[in-house]
Amino acid sequence: MIFLKTEDEIELMRAANQLVAATLAEVGRNIKPGVTTAQLNKIADEYIRDAGAVPTFKDFPNPFGGPFPASICTSVNDQVVHGVPNDKPLCEGDIVSVDCGAQLNGYNGDSCYTFCVGEVSEETRKFLHTVKESLYEGIKAARAGNRIGDIGWAVQSYCEASGLGVVREFVGHGIGREMHEEPQVPNYGRRGNGPLIKNGLCIAIEPMITMGNPQVYMEPDKWTIRTRDGHLAAHYEHTIAIHHGKADILSSFEEIEKIENQK
Ligand code: MG
Ligand code: MG
Repeated sequence: MIFLKTEDEIELMRAANQLVAATLAEVGRNIKPGVTTAQLNKIADEYIRDAGAVPTFKDFPNPFGGPFPASICTSVNDQVVHGVPNDKPLCEGDIVSVDCGAQLNGYNGDSCYTFCVGEVSEETRKFLHTVKESLYEGIKAARAGNRIGDIGWAVQSYCEASGLGVVREFVGHGIGREMHEEPQVPNYGRRGNGPLIKNGLCIAIEPMITMGNPQVYMEPDKWTIRTRDGHLAAHYEHTIAIHHGKADILSSFEEIEKIENQK
């Protein structure tokens, strides 16, 4: 069942997502060679709790193993999603996808950004740019009267035109009182297929894209997902609401990008 949100609920969702955006910016301020993802997790966890919110990833159940042990996912280089923060320092030239979720006043925010650690190669920079653009292509297709398949088609065709791989095993999702609600929002699809997009629909659109083959595998920790061929992966995510027929982006990369441009 898809729960459409009222205007008031959309504003509550915006507040939760703005907190997630501010948390990601705070994490971004601290990303540099030598910092560990465990340190970044501590920063995010404290930031969310200080705002009176709950980090929703912490203790998130896993059908394959133990609950998620941290408040953000940190996926480095060929790790695609669900990377577990650890004590290994980040290195110059790495990329790290930081996925963050928070619940504020009963509503959820969910957003992800792939950061550069120090200077990265031109090829990597171009890859990240394309993946981020694919998110906005998906958002453009998210309007009342379109279908969920139009979003996936937009992301997929944009990425594949650049020779990139679209991961099939993980998808975007509806979001509201629960972090994961219906419908599923794949990053691949056929135009005109899937559930109808209506005003009040709140979804997280989140391309998970590889520089090579899209096949992935799960590490023995039962969380971390990596590319099979060892190529880089990137992940950008916004939570949006369909508002007056169009996508209203409830999360934000504005502060993050300001910080990234100052580095
Ligand atoms: Mg997320
Ligand atoms: Mg999500």
